[in-house]
This record gives sequence, structure tokens and C-alpha cells, in this order.
Amino acid sequence: MRSMSDSGVLHIKGRVLVGADPDGGVRDELWAVDGRITFERPAGARDVTTVEGWALPGLVDAHCHVGLDAHGPVDASTAEKQALTDRDAGALLLRDAGSPSDTRWIDDREDLPRIIRAGRHIARTRRYIRNYAHEIEPDDLVAYVAREARRGDGWVKLVGDWIDRETGDLSACWPRGEVAAAIAEAHRLGARVTAHCFAEESLAPLVEAGIDCIEHATGLTEETIPLFAERGVAIVPTLVNIATFPRLADGGEAKFPRWADHMRRLHARRYETVRAAYDAGIPVFVGTDAGGSLAHGLVGQEVAELVKAGLPPLAALSAATWSARAWLGRPGLEEGAPADLVVYETDPRADVRVLGSPKRVILRGRVIG
Ligand SMILES: [Zn+2]
Repeated sequence: MRSMSDSGVLHIKGRVLVGADPDGGVRDELWAVDGRITFERPAGARDVTTVEGWALPGLVDAHCHVGLDAHGPVDASTAEKQALTDRDAGALLLRDAGSPSDTRWIDDREDLPRIIRAGRHIARTRRYIRNYAHEIEPDDLVAYVAREARRGDGWVKLVGDWIDRETGDLSACWPRGEVAAAIAEAHRLGARVTAHCFAEESLAPLVEAGIDCIEHATGLTEETIPLFAERGVAIVPTLVNIATFPRLADGGEAKFPRWADHMRRLHARRYETVRAAYDAGIPVFVGTDAGGSLAHGLVGQEVAELVKAGLPPLAALSAATWSARAWLGRPGLEEGAPADLVVYETDPRADVRVLGSPKRVILRGRVIG
């Protein structure tokens, strides 16, 4: 996957899946010229490279972490490997859901995916994984949110609930007033806010405070699902990460049995929760949570998990492509858009498992490998 063909013009032909609409969403071909998409055959083009297959917009991993591993920040060469792994899996647009590393240098690298950053996680003191977050108290929340809103690319990440050692269970991290003021400040600065939430009780106060998105959202219930739907609050379920809950529960059982039981219950109903959220009209997006304890490059597996949860395959695909890009304010396969796309041998709408083996990955108009 090292070589990069830097040809003049790229011609993609076969089926170009420009949208989720089964009638209007398919075109026969597109070209990439100077890194941009055009649907008009360029006049007098020479040195044309042709790629045949089923093309999708570059996949979106809307929850991953570059520059982070299980122990905290990593060096640039490890971060580079993470980004390359995502790229080779077809994930060409990443929403970084919190990283203690400065990965700005990636923006200057033509061969690495595009990243939309949420700055560094903001957590309550001793209420998150060590070495990850700014760990602060509620009085400082507005100031830290403002700081990360300025540092990031339009998102801020809070840790909304975590284990509380006093109660031995998950509990909400922020008082209502402070979190509402912090979200208002982020919005004033043009940033959206998302929060890590596993539990039930943390959700309604965050939605009422104006939050834009919830990560994981395993605690959604019949009471909170209509609230999310009404306010248009998105969720990024990260089912490949939720799959690790039983193992986490086993590890914490002796010390925190209530928490362990809670995590097992959230895990047991995870598919039902996601399906109910989707059915209620809550926007659902693909995210893997790679970079904490999970490997990078799992975007295709997460799409398959959403299908397993009961989303129609086209909706699960859209959650990693068309709708995810619109939600993040980035174009898909449109005239003049950057030529970031992935080509497959067979129709990914018929079987999303094909996402696991891209035929060609094309970033900024160049065929990668
Ligand atoms: Zn995460």
C-alpha cells in the first residue's frame, strides 16, 4: 500500500453510488481531475487511469481517536500508523472524539485521512481513563469548553457519565446549570458538543442543555428516545466497542458489582436500543471508538453491527457515507468535491460485508495502493 499513482486523470466506471436514493443515487462514471470530482469527461484527457467497480464516498468513522492508545497520548509515528490503518480500510474522514495529542501535522499530509477534531476530552476529576482528559470541576467547565472549542474543528467532547466510586455505579458527571452554560458557550463559538454516555440518567439533562450528539448512548430508553428524536440529537453507538462491556464487567466485578451488572444489562439490550433509536428517527452514525483499547480500521465491522442491530443495509451504509458527510458538513460524491472515494468489487448495498475489503482507496484523486 505504499505506492501512489499520481496520474493526470482518474476514471471511475461501473456504479457510482452518489446517494441513498435507489433511483437517483447511482451514476455510471466519474472522473477525478486535479484531486476533484467531475461528472463530465475531461476534454483531451491523456494518461487516464481507469478503476472499475462500485464506488462510495470515502467512509466516515465518526468516533475514533488518533494519537491515543490504551495508556494515553502516543508518538507521531504511532498516530501515523493509526491514520494509515483507517485510510486503508476506506475511512477517509474521521471525527476524532478526543485526543490528548496534537495531530495538526496530519492536515499537511496528502496521504492521510481528513480529521475533524473535538480537541481533548473534558472529564470530571478522577472520572475517566487516566492520561486522556482534562480532569476538572464544574466551575471550570465553561472555560475548558471554550478552550477546546477554539482548538478543535467544530466539536467539543465531554465525558457525560462514568463510574462513581462512592455509589459503585455509573453516574452523571456535570450539574445541569454548568453544562448548559458550557454548551451555550460552545455554540456561541461555532462548535457542536458531544458527550460520552453509557448510563440512562445522564441523557435527559444533556439533551435539555442543548447537546448535539451522544456517543455510545447505551442508556437510551422509552423515555429518552422521543426526546432525542424531537431535538434531533444524533447518536454514534460504537457497537464494536460496546461488545467489550462483558469483559470490562468481568474485570470490575469484584470491586464494583453494581456497575458490572449495569454494564452487562446495557450490553444485553444494545441492538434493541439502537434499533429503537433508528425507528424513532434519531440520526445514527458509524463510529468505532478506535484508538482507546480498540484497533483502527474497523469501520466496515461497525456498519455490519448496525445491520445486525436491525438497521436496513442502506441506512447503515448511509451512516458511514452520505448522511454522515452531510451531518459533518463535508461533501460526498459531488461535482467539484474532493475525490475521496472507495471502490468495491461488488455492490455494498447488497452485502455490507464487502466494506471489509476495498478494491481501491482513492484519496484526493490519487489511488492509494
Ligand atoms: Zn471514544
